[in-house]
Amino acid sequence: MIKLEASKMTKAIEKAKAIHPRVSCIGERTYKVTSSDGKGSYTVRFVVSNGLKLAECDCKAGKVSQVCFHVAAASAVNIGLQRMKQQVAAAPAAPPSPVAIPSPTKPQPKFNPARIVYSVYVCPNTLRRIPACTVDGWNV
Ligand SMILES: [Zn+2]
Repeated sequence: MIKLEASKMTKAIEKAKAIHPRVSCIGERTYKVTSSDGKGSYTVRFVVSNGLKLAECDCKAGKVSQVCFHVAAASAVNIGLQRMKQQVAAAPAAPPSPVAIPSPTKPQPKFNPARIVYSVYVCPNTLRRIPACTVDGWNV
């Protein structure tokens, strides 16, 4: 097991940035990281035990409990994924869809006489009084 400590990770992070291995999530906190030549891959697993963040990698360095770039690369992905999971868990339940699908059985609104407004419009040119009628603000 490799104890994840920022001071020990610096070099491994630099190497991971230089090599830029492919990291794929293959299980709960378990990742497959490509080797430096890109031909093979190693499995990195993260464990939190007694508040300690631990990792293991099946590469040569990982087997002797050295922080390798596989662990550094996978930890970046792991941190991102765990944060996303926390955000999803912390987020309130999704609100109902804002798109209301009209129900075909919904009755049509009844005719409301209050929607009709009769008024008298005075033409500014001829000064003639023209009766006007609007429904919901629209001239009819
Ligand atoms: Zn490794």
